[in-house]
Amino acid sequence: MTPYDAAPPQEARVQPPLIDGFGRTVSYLRVSVTDRCDLRCVYCMSEHMTFLPKAEVLTLEELDRIASAFVALGTRKLRITGGEPLVRKGVMGLFENLSRHLKSGALDELTLTTNGTRLEEFAADLARLGVRRVNVSMDTLDPAKFRVLTRGGQLPKVIAGIDAALAAGLSVKINAVALKDDNAGELPDLIAWAHARGCDMTLIEAMPLGEIEVDRTDQFLSLKDVRRGLESFWTLSEIAHRTGGPARYVRIEETGGRLGFITPLSHNFCESCNRVRLTCTGTLHTCLGREDASDLRAVIRDGADDAGLVDAIRLAIDAKPQGHDFQIARAAAPAVARHMSTTGG
Ligand code: SAM
Ligand code: SF4
Repeated sequence: MTPYDAAPPQEARVQPPLIDGFGRTVSYLRVSVTDRCDLRCVYCMSEHMTFLPKAEVLTLEELDRIASAFVALGTRKLRITGGEPLVRKGVMGLFENLSRHLKSGALDELTLTTNGTRLEEFAADLARLGVRRVNVSMDTLDPAKFRVLTRGGQLPKVIAGIDAALAAGLSVKINAVALKDDNAGELPDLIAWAHARGCDMTLIEAMPLGEIEVDRTDQFLSLKDVRRGLESFWTLSEIAHRTGGPARYVRIEETGGRLGFITPLSHNFCESCNRVRLTCTGTLHTCLGREDASDLRAVIRDGADDAGLVDAIRLAIDAKPQGHDFQIARAAAPAVARHMSTTGG
């Protein structure tokens, strides 16, 4: 028996779905459960990050309450992310509690984005709780380069995590940020490695989120160029495969695997955006690339009942911006000040 077995009243009610001011139905919530991480990827965080005091971070019960309110409003997909979600103490309890929505049929998918360092420990439990797919971020197959890119990470631990997830029956997608100097030449090997293990692979353009030590212009690599390079020796066939996220997929005929491209800069995907993000402090961001924010922590800590929380969520969704306008310009400030690890990738 968990504290959540008795469903709060809002979960029993049938509510109209969340539709924003541009007619887009919001059906996908990403929940960042912590801003902390055991790695410090160079494009994501600065070396010496100041993390949030505990009192500012939602408790697991608060995270569950807000996520469940979204499920009651038609959210079909929940992705748990961070920071590194698997370093949050008790996070498996949150998965366990949220899995009731899978059992009830209210939710199609409960999933996770992780750096993989603790996946070996948790893969079997995640599978038992109804998680079917995980995204694992890994930007290189070279242990020395991995140590540099993550500022100290151990690649073998991540690979052990991927293997454990596959052994537990989870589908694994490998995510890599395309970085001009660090992994550009290695991307074909990384893709072939993933496909040989039966994993999908997604490439991501570096986004201007949060201050870091390096100038992102030096790291930015357009996926248009990457794709052109891959097409010089592989056959890329367009496919209709979608996972509810922003990636557009092709099949590589030679490897037999799928490759996704997330191109927020070279081609933005706002017109079909169905997602919003909840930070670990309860701030709802309805656009990754804008400063818009609604403080749901204040709403619940001020004692709002379920109807009050629903009203606050609807108000935020009504105001979801039409889109972002990321640009990577030399020496320019980031498009938004918050890091990806705060917003939740
Ligand atoms: N720690 C987990 C991980 O690394 O998978 C989850 C959170 S992380 C912020 C989610 C994803 O965001 C990762 O795939 C990471 O590579 C990506 N990411 C982080 N900062 C980014 C940036 N500035 N531009 C593009 N992708 C970024
Ligand atoms: Fe941590 Fe993920 Fe950011 Fe890397 S990308 S520093 S693993 S939160």
